[in-house]
Amino acid sequence: MAHPTPHPGPPARERFPVVVVGAGPAGLTVGNVLRAASVDCLVLETETRDFVERRPRAGVLEEWAVRGLERRGLAGRLLERAERHTACEFRFEGEGHRFPYTELTGRHHFVCPQPLLVTDLVREYADVRGGAIRFGVRDVRLHDVGSDRPSVSYRCPETGERRYADCEFIAGCDGARGVSRAALTAAHPARVARHDYGVGWLALLAEAPPSCDRVLFGVHPRGFAGQMPRSPRLTRYYLQCPPGDEPENWPHERVWSELRQRLAAADARPLTEGRLVEKRVLDMHDCVVEPMAYGRLLLAGDAAHLTAPIAAKGMNLALHDAFLLGDALAARLTKGDGAALAGYSAACLRRVWDYQEFSQWLSEVYHGTASGDPYRAGTTLARLRRLFTSPAAAAAFAEQYLGTAVRH
Ligand code: FAD
Repeated sequence: MAHPTPHPGPPARERFPVVVVGAGPAGLTVGNVLRAASVDCLVLETETRDFVERRPRAGVLEEWAVRGLERRGLAGRLLERAERHTACEFRFEGEGHRFPYTELTGRHHFVCPQPLLVTDLVREYADVRGGAIRFGVRDVRLHDVGSDRPSVSYRCPETGERRYADCEFIAGCDGARGVSRAALTAAHPARVARHDYGVGWLALLAEAPPSCDRVLFGVHPRGFAGQMPRSPRLTRYYLQCPPGDEPENWPHERVWSELRQRLAAADARPLTEGRLVEKRVLDMHDCVVEPMAYGRLLLAGDAAHLTAPIAAKGMNLALHDAFLLGDALAARLTKGDGAALAGYSAACLRRVWDYQEFSQWLSEVYHGTASGDPYRAGTTLARLRRLFTSPAAAAAFAEQYLGTAVRH
């Protein structure tokens, strides 16, 4: 059902302390934190409300991220509905190896499909906290980001007219393909670090219950395969494929045949098959913009750093940025205290780089055996076996997998 836009006919020029570009997890969290501090802001989103509330993507949330949402009054429904996961399983050389991370650490993962979180964040921001939000805007442009008087303009979806929102700060939360990252790098020579894994992943969403109640990682000479439970009726699967491959090359029967082979393990239950409702190829790469801020423009989430879904870290990092950015903007705008804002980029990047390094490490575990290089295949299997023979290696993996390090 299409939701009505709350402000159908805004004036041609408006003023808000903060304009947030993008209504994903990062932008909506920043907006909610600002509204809780009674700071007015405008969220601009190119897609419709319906679309952002349905877009399937992430599912795994780390415990600190959920607690951060809870402290900000944003986790009520999530805590009722999210599943708590206590173990994952690696399958290699025809055997399943359960990795019981909660037994080792006392900590767990939450599994909550991203659309549920986004739906809650939109409702809380727009319907409960009374925040201004415009969906379906076109041709968003950022102006004068290096000055004290930046603004954001967009084409109104109803009239096609260009509207301007003057502000004190712009939160660039429009993801990896938005306009904020380009506006920052055009205004200021930021370093853009990119890492290409040289592999693709076919990302699949199956209308089927999970085949196993925990996350499965199939490390196989034919390529990586993963199973991530999302809900009792939906399961995400991944299959390693050549970068640039086409989803059309993967008909239903081929997908399930590869999954069966790559996730095979002695005594494992057969996979529960179902209709594939999403099928897209992701070229696996990472990207980090440093610094994440210039002048009055501050990036958060995927706009600042893209993390391939290898270690399920992207949404967690987006929330971490958003907590820091929301709190820092609120401190600056309500108390005149700019210290947290000045340290924002550096504070985020410590966790970002830590998670990037873990993704790179884990990528070798997932993809090494299928590289065609017997040396990489041998070291990959050594890494995997070590997780199940060395308590120190298991503890280190659990800390990074769950994101429980106290400091970065
Ligand atoms: P986005 O969610 O991309 O939101 C940006 C918003 O900005 C979008 O709504 C977009 O429509 C809007 N926008 C774009 N351009 C403009 C513009 N010019 N003007 C205004 N608005 C604009 N992460 C995890 O932590 N755990 C997981 O399990 C996980 N699994 C994933 C699985 C897949 C298949 C994929 C693709 C990603 C996964 N991720 C995961 C990553 C996670 O989905 C992202 O990191 C997360 O969505 C980032 O949030 P964000 O708010 O920064 O950006």
